[in-house]
Amino acid sequence: MSHPKINFTPGPSQLYFTVEDHVRTAFREGIPSLSHRSRKFEAIYRETSEGLRELLSVPADFHVLFTASATEIWERIIQNLVVSKSLHLVNGSFSRKFNEVALQLGRQATTVERPAGHGFTGSVDVPADVELVALTHNETSTGVSMPLSVIGDIRNGNKEVIIAVDAVSSLPYPDFDYHAIDTVFFSVQKGFGLPAGLGVWLVNERCAAKANAMLSRVSIGSYHSLPSLLQHESKFQTPETPNVLGIYLLGKVIGDMLRTGIQRIRKETEYKAAILYQELNRHEVLKPLVADAQCQSKTVIVANTGASTKLLTETLLSRGMQAGAGYGDGKATQLRFANFPTHAREHFEQLCDIIKEFEG
Ligand SMILES: *Cc1c(COP(=O)(O)O)cnc(C)c1O
Repeated sequence: MSHPKINFTPGPSQLYFTVEDHVRTAFREGIPSLSHRSRKFEAIYRETSEGLRELLSVPADFHVLFTASATEIWERIIQNLVVSKSLHLVNGSFSRKFNEVALQLGRQATTVERPAGHGFTGSVDVPADVELVALTHNETSTGVSMPLSVIGDIRNGNKEVIIAVDAVSSLPYPDFDYHAIDTVFFSVQKGFGLPAGLGVWLVNERCAAKANAMLSRVSIGSYHSLPSLLQHESKFQTPETPNVLGIYLLGKVIGDMLRTGIQRIRKETEYKAAILYQELNRHEVLKPLVADAQCQSKTVIVANTGASTKLLTETLLSRGMQAGAGYGDGKATQLRFANFPTHAREHFEQLCDIIKEFEG
């Protein structure tokens, strides 16, 4: 079976269009068997880290660390930054899993919740004894995103709390105010269009200080504790043998994105999202799952497809397009469409044409 030309599944998603070439070059240059203690690896770590800082305008007091996945980062954040209390803003499956990790690690992890398909728009009460607020900028399960003003308001009302942002399925799109964030993370198989198996964890000095303060009181883990990661990062190294190829490919794709320009990537993301939401809004049988426009994700667009789910999936497949299945309970009645930098305008225009003609 040949695979569809365009994959709209959120993750793993369509590869960034330059990845195949970079993989070939990597093999020619021996990257897959490169020693992680070599100068050449340090140069790769450095290139990827500096490229990411430039692409996302990350301030100098943030560190760029590598892990196996975003799931691992959920655990590392709790282990290294929370002695007892975290507060989780929950509005879907991924934000709930972050909360579950904290409970499994024995923390007093409380939640503020919104029903599926709804998001956070107003102010959020943060109890004074909470050490860390965990939020998911883009709920991949439902296509609900959090307005950046909500994050800014949490910071303004709670200067001391550590704010942790899961941006796995939105970066590189959001233009975060890094003063409102202490740590943010993603894995590479979504918006960056890379093979899975690498998590990227940005932390500021406040996080470093907190982990160091916790060190003498509780276990903060072993090789991937924050102090261990930071000590190695200062030499552009990692504690373990990392996914060298993944770090290399991320650096190359970031280089390509820098040449395109982040402003253009953001504008095109907004254009593609706008035409798909417009088509869904005026459709007879399909509708956006998220009704409130200020919470409609630009990067993962979820459609209520009801009884037409199977037919639409097959119609798209016959035109070379793989829609993402609905998540969890939504599997039979929703479809998800990733809108990442590799998804071209033309692909979105074709998708919209098919949806427009689709009668259910
Ligand atoms: C996919 C996803 C994760 C988990 O990423 P892994 O790479 O599978 O660990 C976490 N949070 C969100 C919002 C996601 O979409």
